[in-house]
Amino acid sequence: MEPLEPPPPPLPLLYLDVDGPLIPFGGPAGRQPEHLTERRIREVLGAEAAGHPLLVRIDPRHGARIAALPCRPVWATTWEHEANICVAPLLGLPPLPVLEEGDGEDAPYGVHWKTPLLVGHADGTAFAWVDDEIGAADRQWVADHHPGPTLLLRVDPQVGLTEQDFAVLEEWLRGPV
Ligand SMILES: [Mg+2]
Repeated sequence: MEPLEPPPPPLPLLYLDVDGPLIPFGGPAGRQPEHLTERRIREVLGAEAAGHPLLVRIDPRHGARIAALPCRPVWATTWEHEANICVAPLLGLPPLPVLEEGDGEDAPYGVHWKTPLLVGHADGTAFAWVDDEIGAADRQWVADHHPGPTLLLRVDPQVGLTEQDFAVLEEWLRGPV
């Protein structure tokens, strides 16, 4: 009898920020395209959760794109569990695990509060991180503290996730990570 194949490694984690990548902000005169109507938001979320004025900027097509990626998405956002109440349903995504602020060590000066948290959460496994606030100090911190493969993808907060961003994610996630 052939020896059993070892189980495949788990899919890479994908840490997802909300403000910036999924809810763009800033830009000329602060104007952003709106993809959802207030009415649609109320239909999906119910009246209580629908009050956030920026939810209209969520592009529901992003949900299918994220769901099609070979990864395990995790919210890494100040929205924390609210992301599962207000954002995931509008994207057509199931509730996702949430990276909670205050779970891990404090970030050193210049390093984003999320950086040590998600490195601790990933625990050496491959991960991608999509955020508009990734900087050089974060890249260095991850390089110094995380032995596994990583993709730190900075998104332009005025634009949000683009086709180009999804292409980069696809290629990295489907490559030999
Ligand atoms: Mg952000």
